[in-house]
Formats: sequence, structure tokens, C-alpha cells
Amino acid sequence: MMNLIFLGAPGAGKGSQAVKIAQKYNLAHLSTGDILRNEVDKKTELGIIAKQYMDKGELLPDDIIIKMVENKIKEVKGFNGFIFDGFPRTIKQAEDFDKMLDSIKIRIDSVILLDVSKEILIERLSKRAVLENRKDDSDISIIENRIVQYLQKTAPLIDYYKKQNKLIKINGIGLIDDIFIAITNIIDKKI
Ligand code: AMP
Repeated sequence: MMNLIFLGAPGAGKGSQAVKIAQKYNLAHLSTGDILRNEVDKKTELGIIAKQYMDKGELLPDDIIIKMVENKIKEVKGFNGFIFDGFPRTIKQAEDFDKMLDSIKIRIDSVILLDVSKEILIERLSKRAVLENRKDDSDISIIENRIVQYLQKTAPLIDYYKKQNKLIKINGIGLIDDIFIAITNIIDKKI
């Protein structure tokens, strides 16, 4: 069993790397952003609420996200562990998550931080807007708000996981394949 958290600003490349790493090590890729986008597309009750926050680049309330993740973890079977991508995103989520993990006897092995400068983040997010037609990447003020939300609410998790001795920082600038190899080198040393 191996459980990882992928941490990093929007546009840091968490999603692309998480998909590849999940495939290589047979991990369940649990992306809260993907789950929410799926709910929005299906126009579920949760999706209708989520859309109001996502369109503005705001984070959803912690209790909604925690409940959603807890349900998802229970659903998933047949994998060697999890990659949590885009979760937790606040100290409150991380604290509640630690309690949840304790109670279901799951342990986070490492938190992979993909480190990318703000200029490159904005450039990547603007490109993604065109490629993926994501509403939350389509407007520079929404993109900037997502980065502000990250810096204010999510970046404090770097210290949170440093204190738990779980943080591993990876340079997130460069070729996708090179960054992938850097991550696998770290994971392979741990297995
Ligand atoms: P992402 O694809 O991870 O960038 O997520 C897209 C959007 O979904 C975010 O801008 C938030 O509105 C929402 N979201 C995803 N994960 C979370 C989370 N852990 N907590 C709160 N909101 C989230």
C-alpha cells in the first residue's frame, strides 16, 4: 500500500503527473477537481453548488469536500493505494483528513510538491483554457484568483507536511517525462 498527496498550485502539473504515476504503480487517482467537474457536467445537486465556486476560482467549503473524499475512498477497490490530487487544499481539510485516515487505518507516505513559478503558472493556465475549454482558466482574473487562493489557503500545507516529515519538493518546470522520472526515482527509493 502506498498513498501519496500531490501538492502544488493550479497549473503546476499535478493532474498530468498524477495520471501517469497512478498508472505505473496501480494507484487510484482521486482528483477532487475531476470529481467536481463530473458532478457539474451531470448537473447533480453537488454539481450545481460546486459550479458557483469553481466559476469564480474559489474553493468549496471544507465540509463538502471532506465528505466527498470520504465517500470516494470507500468506493474504490483493487488498487495498491491512492494519489490524492488537489486535496487537501486547506489546513482544516488536512487536519480532518488526518483524523479520517487514522480511523480507517490508512497512512500518507509522501507529499509530492510540484514547484513552479507564478509566471509559468499563468502561462500554462492560459494555454489550458484554449486546449481544454475550462471556464475557470478562461479569464485572467479567475486564474489569478485561483493562484491567490492557493497562496493564502493551500501553501500553508507545505509547512504542515514538512512538520510530518512527508514533504518532497520536485522542480515542476521542464519536460513532463523528465518530471515523471524525477517522481518515480523518489517513489522507487521508498518502495
Ligand atoms: P482543480 O482541478 O484541482 O484545480 O480544481 C478545480 C476547482 O475545484 C477549484 O478551483 C475549486 O473550486 C474546486 N476544488 C477542487 N478541489 C478542491 C478542494 N480540495 N477544496 C475546495 N475546492 C476544491
